[in-house]
Amino acid sequence: MLSNSRIFAVNHKKISSLNINNMCCCKIRASLKRLKPHLPLGRNYSSLPGLIGNDIKSLRSIINPPIAKIRNIGIMAHIDAGKTTTTERILYYSGYTRSLGDVDDGDTVTDFMAQERERGITIQSAAVTFDWKGYRVNLIDTPGHVDFTLEVERCLRVLDGAVAVFDASAGVEAQTRTVWRQADKHKIPRICFLNKMDKTGASFNYAVESIREKLNTKPLLLQLPIGEAKTFQGVVDVVSKEKLLWNPNSDDGKDFERKPLLEMSDPKLLKETTEARNALIEQVADLDDEFADLVLGEFSENFDLLPAEKLQTAIHRVTLAQTAVPVLCGSALKNKGVQPLLDAITMYLPSPEERNYEFLQWYKGDLCALAFKVLHDKQRGPLVFMRIYSGTMKPQLAVHNINGNCTERISRLLLPFADQHIEIPSLTAGNIALTVGLKHTATGDTIVSSKASAVAAARRAEGQGEEKHRGNNEAERLLLAGVEIPEPVFFCTIEPPSVAKQPDLDHALKCLQCEDPSLKVRLDPDSGQTVLCGMGELHIEIIHDRIKREYGLETYLGPLQVAYRETILNSVRATDTLDRTLGDKRHLVTVELEAKPTETPSVRPVVEYAGSVSADLLKASQEAIESGAHSACLQGPLLGSPVQDVAITLRSLIIHPGTSTTMISACVSRCVQKATWPRRGL
Ligand code: GDP
Ligand code: MG
Repeated sequence: MLSNSRIFAVNHKKISSLNINNMCCCKIRASLKRLKPHLPLGRNYSSLPGLIGNDIKSLRSIINPPIAKIRNIGIMAHIDAGKTTTTERILYYSGYTRSLGDVDDGDTVTDFMAQERERGITIQSAAVTFDWKGYRVNLIDTPGHVDFTLEVERCLRVLDGAVAVFDASAGVEAQTRTVWRQADKHKIPRICFLNKMDKTGASFNYAVESIREKLNTKPLLLQLPIGEAKTFQGVVDVVSKEKLLWNPNSDDGKDFERKPLLEMSDPKLLKETTEARNALIEQVADLDDEFADLVLGEFSENFDLLPAEKLQTAIHRVTLAQTAVPVLCGSALKNKGVQPLLDAITMYLPSPEERNYEFLQWYKGDLCALAFKVLHDKQRGPLVFMRIYSGTMKPQLAVHNINGNCTERISRLLLPFADQHIEIPSLTAGNIALTVGLKHTATGDTIVSSKASAVAAARRAEGQGEEKHRGNNEAERLLLAGVEIPEPVFFCTIEPPSVAKQPDLDHALKCLQCEDPSLKVRLDPDSGQTVLCGMGELHIEIIHDRIKREYGLETYLGPLQVAYRETILNSVRATDTLDRTLGDKRHLVTVELEAKPTETPSVRPVVEYAGSVSADLLKASQEAIESGAHSACLQGPLLGSPVQDVAITLRSLIIHPGTSTTMISACVSRCVQKATWPRRGL
């Protein structure tokens, strides 16, 4: 019986995420199978500005829109809430796509899959750019698989705002809470869209209450539904007291009418709306002092006289401060409520300049960008999506990659606009750029104009006493996405079809790693085989599938193995003495230590020292002690897997003069092993 040791695949957090991971990978795998391989990258690139087609000609003048008119947003949702359907409608109404799919409302499995396939491609491109009423919107795809928590966080970094989509019959669901928390952490202003208002069981009030309770936030009801479930016809705009009704005969929901609510025709709805508007005004006034002054002064007698624009501006401020969240509703599938959602995105979510990115001050207008997605195009090589935070990006510009500590050149700069990639001469801060030519840039890398610029920015950061960054080296301080990549959970060997194809396989794996930092590749030192390490069984399967599909290599995978870790369960004490004479030198060391589980996960053993251990002795031997403890944890006693989450406290140390540090290290290592070794029969 094993009493003191335990094998585990990964720490608890990762175990629970593993299941979600598999579930999401399933989705990815399903869509991968449906995707036609050539489609995602088969878009046209316009060549010279003069040759740009008619429909995008008008854009040339607004390649770089004023920063106040830019919105970088993401859509987050629990699976099946309607993220894909809503996104598809958004792209259609904004003119990004020209048809709403040729399938009948997408409510059969095949229709759904066809749509998913069509949209899946669009979304695969990481960011799509479209214009809505004079605003430039970059819709950025956040990875659906929340289990790659850190990857999702990296993506959240490039968003200035987000739309949370809910199923109005289900309210807040598990995954919504997770992404909501992450958005909280990154302080991303949000608006909520209660989708599926047409569905049986849809309840506006229930969904609103669940947002209030489960997300612990204050919903601002900007709309009320007209009808619910089968009777859902449209929405009331509470701010302007207008009703928005969609033409029931319209196929695509493009036509809707906006009419003021009148006492004559809609007495009940008008009364409800007036009450809702008054409640909204009071709620906003509670949260925003400037608005409170206005309301209490000029309009205290009659809220009806308060202009809609004043209320909208205040709602914008409150959304930005994240003290409350605007709530809208509709049915993406039935083409209702999406245009007002687009209006709300431009009206209430912030522009890049309204976000407070503290590092901007260090760059003083020099280029600073984050690579948030890498895609591989057979002809053009890696296409890197970048969020530009400061400065300007141009084709033929040499840029410095802080993570990779290398300098490379952007050959072309593109804008993923509508269904074309437009070649552009420059792009300024706040925008999303697609670059060609960067071969060494991976997802999550920070790009600046030069090494000197990075050093200057680091100095400024230091000069401003950035306490929390102290102790890190200069480069680390400037990394925008300086997040740790999760440890792989599964691994297996991968072999090319023939030895001659090994370089091709190496190339494919290098490209895939650039796109997906959670994929690790290593060489087995004993067999010389290539080993793939991933986040789950399906993650590895997808990689295998992509190598075949995208790189034309039929590879063979070895049996899948779990990357186990071992740990101890209880605290244990152990003593060991090493007494050896080498030549005429006696090496004698006695160690007493205690090993116990750590409270927070730690890959390396945490070494602490009891007060009784002499400081002088420690000074000379600390390094040897720690390396001994570390090497003892490389292979655990149960399966030979690494031991982690262990804290070692050195209680006593006696060293005979002349004992070498190697011997001290060996003694500590043996003693740690003794402590962590499972005892039988206890
Ligand atoms: P995602 O997983 O969040 O991307 O959700 P999808 O957009 O793929 O939608 C999941 C399912 O919900 C599909 O069967 C859609 O047809 C359906 N759906 C999406 N929006 C609505 C809606 O507004 N009303 C109803 N009744 N069904 C919807
Ligand atoms: Mg979807």
